[in-house]
Amino acid sequence: MEEYASEAVVLRREPQGEADSRISFFTKKYGKLVAKARSARKITSKLSAHLEPGMVSEIRLVEKNGMLIVDALKRKKLSLAPATLYFLDRILAEADPDMDLWQMLQSDSFSWHSVLGLLGWDPKSAVCGSCAALPSSFHIGRQDFLCVSCSRYEPQKNLIVLNKV
Ligand SMILES: [Zn+2]
Repeated sequence: MEEYASEAVVLRREPQGEADSRISFFTKKYGKLVAKARSARKITSKLSAHLEPGMVSEIRLVEKNGMLIVDALKRKKLSLAPATLYFLDRILAEADPDMDLWQMLQSDSFSWHSVLGLLGWDPKSAVCGSCAALPSSFHIGRQDFLCVSCSRYEPQKNLIVLNKV
């Protein structure tokens, strides 16, 4: 049984089935991983405080029909908005570690301009994917920039709004 241990930022937590939780992490060593907290009213409640979104915890996972959380110990909480954690969960590829992103999250100096740049979509030279105007947001499903008018009818849950630099 393979075991994984790393510091990790909790990105998202959802109930799964009657008592389980499905938790998505950005780990320092392995990048994004999704794991299950099982059986779990008991275990989930024991680990619950350590698995809140935004928490940085030491986690231990084992691979057993998917990833299973066996332990978690919180270190600190990051001051990231729930929407930021949600978008990070959607935009990060699984099992793709990124030390620069990890350090940016730990230093609490988060900005989407820098994160998109790290992930290969630098907003500095970007234009709207539909009309080539100045972009105002990044469309997470299309993985493309959009300007104010081209993004008008897009659901907010798909748009990372770019703040002015
Ligand atoms: Zn446009």
